[in-house]
Amino acid sequence: MPGISEDDIRRVREASDLVAIAGERVQLRQRGRDFWGCCPFHNEKSPSFKIDPTTQLWHCFGCGEGGDVFSFVMKIDDLGFVDAVRELARRAGIQISEAPGERISRGKKARLKEVCEATAEFYHTQLMRGRGDQVDAARSYLSSRKLGGDVPKRWNLGYAPGRESLIYRLRSLGFTPQEMIDANVALPSKRDGRLRDRFYDRIMFPIRDAEGDTIAFGGRVVGKGEPKYLNSQETPVFHKSEVLFGLDMAKATMAATGVAIVVEGYTDVIVLHEAGVKNAVATLGTALTLRHIRALSRHAKNRIVYLFDGDEAGQRAADRAARFVDESMLPEAGRSRVELYAVTLPDDLDPADFVQQRGADALQELLEHAVPLLRYAIDRTLSRHDLSDFADRSRALPECLSLLAAIKQSVLAQEYAGYIADRLQMDTQTVVERLAATPAPRSMQDREEEPATPMPQQQTAVQLSPRERERLRIEREFLSLCAREPQLGMGYAAVLAQTQWRRSAHADIAAALLAYLSENAQASAGDVVRGVEELRPGSASTLTFASTYDDFEPAEVAQFLAEELAIRDMEDSVVALNVQLKDPSSMSQEDYDLTYAAVVSMQKDLTALRREHKPLGAIN
Ligand SMILES: [Zn+2]
Repeated sequence: MPGISEDDIRRVREASDLVAIAGERVQLRQRGRDFWGCCPFHNEKSPSFKIDPTTQLWHCFGCGEGGDVFSFVMKIDDLGFVDAVRELARRAGIQISEAPGERISRGKKARLKEVCEATAEFYHTQLMRGRGDQVDAARSYLSSRKLGGDVPKRWNLGYAPGRESLIYRLRSLGFTPQEMIDANVALPSKRDGRLRDRFYDRIMFPIRDAEGDTIAFGGRVVGKGEPKYLNSQETPVFHKSEVLFGLDMAKATMAATGVAIVVEGYTDVIVLHEAGVKNAVATLGTALTLRHIRALSRHAKNRIVYLFDGDEAGQRAADRAARFVDESMLPEAGRSRVELYAVTLPDDLDPADFVQQRGADALQELLEHAVPLLRYAIDRTLSRHDLSDFADRSRALPECLSLLAAIKQSVLAQEYAGYIADRLQMDTQTVVERLAATPAPRSMQDREEEPATPMPQQQTAVQLSPRERERLRIEREFLSLCAREPQLGMGYAAVLAQTQWRRSAHADIAAALLAYLSENAQASAGDVVRGVEELRPGSASTLTFASTYDDFEPAEVAQFLAEELAIRDMEDSVVALNVQLKDPSSMSQEDYDLTYAAVVSMQKDLTALRREHKPLGAIN
């Protein structure tokens, strides 16, 4: 990879005006100091995409994405970092020197991909040259599924022997245990803490991103055993809800045909490609998400066809997908409109069986009979009811209308209302009125309050109290302020280090901010966002959050937020200690006295802190 010097990157950043560049793609309106528009990365009708012209950072309060001018260009044009820098340099007429040997600071993500690459190579060698009953069984399984011959080579399939053989290999290549754990190819054993291979006695399918870099693995058990399929867990380079298996191989054909085909399993993808259907991809055990659709629509401009298995599981997947209907499918979405189509395979077949039994041409013909997902979903709903029965028809109506709820204002929904009325032998006007009265589902705006990347321990948290929500908002405001005003942020190093962050993501970002700021005292806001993102992937969204305090001096806001955090931390500690004091039998007399004294002194401090704590604007 060619390298661009930090100096050149800075020159390009300084010469690029985010407002002008984004303004070519998004209609922007100035409100106060900031510019607002409808987000180009998710579909919305009211603007939640904000650009701060002073810091040259953007943030979307709808989908939570954010970053600097480079990340904007990377996302909107689907470019890598180096290409985004080149593109902006070209625009600004800046000559950048690219030293072939010198590599851009590679960051943790690149390192994790190297771990995955080395792992894939090791597994592949095992499959091709390994000896023993187990690996023989793996090879004959692949052949029986018509995945023998050259297929393992073309798809870099592998075999995981387990017994820590991968760990030995990776260690000999210079990877650390932590890197293996972070890439989720090794795990510390629960029993004795020793490092173990994550996958053993499984056929391995490397999962690659759109650029073809290996980022994760899917493993299928050889013979019997549970779970049948085991995928890598989320890592900094692998996000299940975004990645599509086979996209790197399929994207050229998608671009040429304008069509993407989505199936359910990785073996289906491979068999379809091998049969000449080279625009197939699969989700990794999840339903198709908005992120998937966005990724696909960059390559397949016309339509995405969901190919459901004919068996029961496939039909369940179809029902799940049917619930996924939103504004991105409307004609109003214009350029970013995505046409989602669906079709079910006949006779309980999966795509692999179908192609093997009836050939690729039969599949192409089937795909041509795909219907729009909405129509498909409505038809499926209707098919569950006896339409000759009046009572059953009226039960079908609300079920059909709920499918349209997310887009009920649109022309398309009105058209489908007519279709439903027809099928149910009802008056169109009645159906349209019932549609208008159907409650809309939760909007994108509501979803923002959930963390962009939920930490495992938070997945169970259902409803946050208002106090907890406010607390999280204050944390985001403070972290993003430190990124926007790096010099100011360094002055609050103690707060970054000592706050009891409510989300482990926030704690990680605070630590990464401290690490970055202490080595880059003169960094600009854009440098900080990018630098911290490299240390802690996924942080840009939080670091560009700042929203509420634009009218005040940054120094005043920083002090206000730091005090808020300190007071809240102390209040929480007092509450926790008081709970302990309620049960004196749980501790010795000495501990009780110490705890009691601590509470008394904290309450005194708290009173003082609260007295000193001025509302914003009180200084002026
Ligand atoms: Zn957005």
